[in-house]
Amino acid sequence: MTGNSAYLHKAAYLVPVSGDHGLPPVINDGAVLTRNGRIVAVAPYGELRGGDAIEVDHGTAVLMPALVNCHSHLELSYLARLGRDDDRESGGEMTDWIRKLLTEREKGCDPEEIKMAAWQGLARLYAGGCRAGLDIGNLPESREFGRGFKVDLRFFQEILGLTETGIEVGLSLLAAAENDPDLCLTAHSPYSTGPELIRKLKERAARHGHLFPIHVAESSAETAFLAAGNGPFRDFLEERSAWDDSFVSPGLSPIAYLDRLGVLDEHTLCVHCVQCDGEDLEVVAARNSAICVCPGSNRYLEVGSAPVPQMLDKGIRVVLGTDSSASNPHLILWQEMRVLHEAHPDIEPGGIIRMATRNGAELMGISDEIGSLEPGRSSSFLAVSGDLPEKANSEAILEWLVSAGLSIVTEWVE
Ligand SMILES: [Zn+2]
Repeated sequence: MTGNSAYLHKAAYLVPVSGDHGLPPVINDGAVLTRNGRIVAVAPYGELRGGDAIEVDHGTAVLMPALVNCHSHLELSYLARLGRDDDRESGGEMTDWIRKLLTEREKGCDPEEIKMAAWQGLARLYAGGCRAGLDIGNLPESREFGRGFKVDLRFFQEILGLTETGIEVGLSLLAAAENDPDLCLTAHSPYSTGPELIRKLKERAARHGHLFPIHVAESSAETAFLAAGNGPFRDFLEERSAWDDSFVSPGLSPIAYLDRLGVLDEHTLCVHCVQCDGEDLEVVAARNSAICVCPGSNRYLEVGSAPVPQMLDKGIRVVLGTDSSASNPHLILWQEMRVLHEAHPDIEPGGIIRMATRNGAELMGISDEIGSLEPGRSSSFLAVSGDLPEKANSEAILEWLVSAGLSIVTEWVE
C-alpha cells in the first residue's frame, strides 16, 4: 500500500520494538499511520483516528516490524531433504552431517535446479515475514539469488582451505576479487580455513566496509580440533585429503583463536557460538562483535544450545538466523524464536523479538528503514495472527509471539 495515499492501520495489538522512544512494548488497540510508503505515526488508535487516511482494520492481529534473518545458505536449499526431521540419525558427530552434505554436493546438480530451490527458500523466508538477510554460499552465481526479490539479501562468498594448496587456491580467489569491491568475501570457519586466509579475508572486508560473518564454536568436535588438532574433524580432513600437517592447532578455544588472529571487531558476526564459555563471551563483548545464533540448526545437528542469556548479560548484540534448510527443517524465523524460547525460557520474550527484528536491521545498517515501527521507517511491516489470546496483556502477547512458531499466520502490510 505505497503510493500517494495515507493509510491508518489498526489492530488489537501493536509491537513497535522501539523501546528508546518511550512507547510501551505492546500498544493495545494500536494504529500505524502511513503516507507515501513511510510510517508517519505510531500510537493508540484513539489518538490517530478521524483524519483523512483510509482505515484498514487488521482485527485481532499484532502489527509489528518485519523480521531479519542474519544467517542462511540459500544455495543449499535443494538439499532440504538432509534437514528433514525424519532424515536425522540421532547421536552422530557434526562431521557425519558434513560428510553427507558434501557427498550430495559432489554428485552435482543442475544450476537451474539449485536456483529454483534457492528462490523457493527465499519465497518461504518472505512468506514468514523476513524482509532482509545475510546469505552465504560457495558458488559465485549465488550472489544473484536475491536480485529482484523483496528481501534485501546480502550475499557473502565463503572461502575455505586448510592445506597449503587449499590456501593458495583461496588466496587466488581473493586476488581475483580485487577488482570487484562490491563482492563480499568471508571465511567459512576456523577449522576449515587457514589462519593467513582468515586474516586476509578479514582485512579485505574491513577495507571495503563489509561485515565479516564466520561460523565459529559450533560443535564440540571443532573445539577439540583447535585445542589439540585431533578428534572427528582431523579424521574427516584426512579422509578427504584436506590435511597436510601444515596447520598447527592453536591450542585455544575457537573464539580465543579468532581473537589471536585479530579478526574480531564490531563488523565481525560470530555465527553459532554454542561452545563458548564466560571467558570467550568476555572477548566477544570486549571486541564488540555480534553473535548470530541459529537455534533450529543447532538443535537439529545436536551440537547443544548457545548460552544466549550469558551473551545478553554481557551486553553482546545477538541476532537470529535459520542457517540452511540442509540442517533446519524450517526456514521460518518464528520457529527460531520458539526453539530459542524453549531452550531459554528465562530470556525476556521482548528481547527475543528484538533479536529477530531491530538487532538484525541495526547489524545490516538498515535500521532507519526496517526493524521497528517508528516515524520515518518503511510502511512495509507485518500483521501476524493465529491462535492468539484474546484481550491479552503485554506479557501474554510477547510470550505468544515467541512460542507460537509455525502456527503464526504472517500477512504483509505494504
Ligand atoms: Zn551456516
